[in-house]
Amino acid sequence: MHLGGGGLMVAKWEIKEKIDDAVRVIAYSAVKYFYPTAITKATNTPLPDAFEYLLTLVQSGVLSIKWEIRCPNLDCLQTIKTVDSLDEVIEEYMECDCGKEVLLTRDIVFPIFEINPDYKEYVKKNKSKKKKKITFY
Ligand SMILES: [Zn+2]
Repeated sequence: MHLGGGGLMVAKWEIKEKIDDAVRVIAYSAVKYFYPTAITKATNTPLPDAFEYLLTLVQSGVLSIKWEIRCPNLDCLQTIKTVDSLDEVIEEYMECDCGKEVLLTRDIVFPIFEINPDYKEYVKKNKSKKKKKITFY
């Protein structure tokens, strides 16, 4: 997987704020899965930084990461399978519906994030309530 780079510099806290907001919007919608590129487009953040932050949301249980295996046949390019972990399938052969036998390498695998259903419910519940004020003094 190649995440690319870019000259764009965005502060870490800005990435966190923007992505947190975007993920909350997605959680509140009917969408269950999204690609990292959807987040970078929506938030205008560099992909490597956005991806790194999305992984921290996986650690905190907001998201799960899954891997889409895509057929390398340029006339096909369909998703052959989506797996939770690459370790069990990497270097194995799979057959696509188009008839191509595909060796599973990291080049044909794309990360996709799933919103935790519990988090979706949490966001919806909290949206209907009035925001609690937090005071620090
Ligand atoms: Zn195919």
